[in-house]
Amino acid sequence: MDCLFCKIIAGEIPSTKVYEDDIAYAFEDINPQAGVHVLVIPKQHVESVEEAGMLHPGTLDGLFRSIREVAREKGIAESGYRVVSNIGEHGAQTVKHLHFHVIGGEQLSGRMG
Ligand code: AMP
Ligand code: ZN
Repeated sequence: MDCLFCKIIAGEIPSTKVYEDDIAYAFEDINPQAGVHVLVIPKQHVESVEEAGMLHPGTLDGLFRSIREVAREKGIAESGYRVVSNIGEHGAQTVKHLHFHVIGGEQLSGRMG
């Protein structure tokens, strides 16, 4: 499948790994929007939150566990952070593999853009 994030999981495209387990892979966003900007993705390919119902049982729980683990590893669990998932055209989703942006490390705007 011609999917950028599947290639990153497979190691065919380099990435800076932050966290990995059986369910999830987390890596530094190549174009960070804040001091901390990590992408958390399922190893199972689904396109977006709209397809999250197709994830294997337990995968969504595992993804959110990974998000919390990334926040701890990056030292932002206490200071707080934002989790964002863009969906489709109006959501400005550019990569069609479900991903959660984990953004923090500084005071974020109250606006969502
Ligand atoms: P979205 O716009 O929500 O689909 O987010 C896609 C994200 O993937 C953007 O924040 C990009 O900066 C990021 N991105 C694209 N290519 C790479 C890459 N090769 N390695 C790391 N992050 C990437
Ligand atoms: Zn994929």
